[in-house]
Amino acid sequence: MKESDFKAARKNHVLSVDVEDYFQVEAFAGLVDRDSWDKWPSRVVVNTQRVLDLFDEHNAKGTFFIVGWVAERFPHLVRDIQSRGHELACHSYWHRTVYSLSPEEFRLDTQRAKQVIEDAAGVAVYGYRAPSWSITNSCLWALDILAEEGFTYDSSIYPIHHDLYGVPGAQRLPYTHTCGNGMKLREYPPATLRMMGTNFPAAGGGYLRIFPSALTELAFRKFENEYQERVVVYLHPWEVDPEQPRIQGSLKSRFRHYTNLGRMHAKVNAVLSRHKFERFSDVMAAEAKTNALPQDASKAADHAEEVFAHAQAAVPGRGNQ
Ligand SMILES: [Zn+2]
Repeated sequence: MKESDFKAARKNHVLSVDVEDYFQVEAFAGLVDRDSWDKWPSRVVVNTQRVLDLFDEHNAKGTFFIVGWVAERFPHLVRDIQSRGHELACHSYWHRTVYSLSPEEFRLDTQRAKQVIEDAAGVAVYGYRAPSWSITNSCLWALDILAEEGFTYDSSIYPIHHDLYGVPGAQRLPYTHTCGNGMKLREYPPATLRMMGTNFPAAGGGYLRIFPSALTELAFRKFENEYQERVVVYLHPWEVDPEQPRIQGSLKSRFRHYTNLGRMHAKVNAVLSRHKFERFSDVMAAEAKTNALPQDASKAADHAEEVFAHAQAAVPGRGNQ
């Protein structure tokens, strides 16, 4: 069987990118003042374009969660991402952990980020991912605010134990969250493997870079064969940039940020060679078609229908798939 035939027979998964610069990550937040971001040599544009080129080679489409600060300074990058067929989504404005903010601070940050991304490309944004997966049990109010601000889905809750983030008991597969205000939000957790009674992160970021490829492939097999669900893969543009300036953080932060940067491009290339990928908006549309979304006039379902209509209009023949 040719590789293309092999891929065609397989399930679609979700590809996502958190668009931020190397000096904006939580691991170095104590060393890099946000007021100094403008002084750091930015590499986010060229790194994101490298990711875009790699995706193009495999005709893979994804969702790009963009930091508002980046979108405001580089609106041409936002337009480039969109014009190459990817979905635009929101990764906050200042890349601060949600649990460190008050609800009002979170709302203002989210509004500002959504606005600058939408202004850059002239399209609406419906998806949110918190910086550092920082929607945890202590700040589930953030989901209410996201729904109120017009978001229809979120991908911020990591069902693992971690020192900086995670909700260990959270659901591992997509679900519809009913907010405290009664609104609905679709939640798409990043992929985990369950072994020995514990959830292990399986297919994104540092875990994709550092863990053996066999573990990543095990996750794909489990999701395809056992769960009949999509693997949510994620990466960051700085992860394909081994030449980035080094920041002298703690040993743990340096390990997390710098291990295997030189191998990430090849690792993502291998994953894209073996699997098919789509955007979260495609998933919403597919779920709307199969009635997987709640039909109680939820905004998520309405949006998914809208996405499906757009997808049909934008891509001839797509509606027959
Ligand atoms: Zn981030």
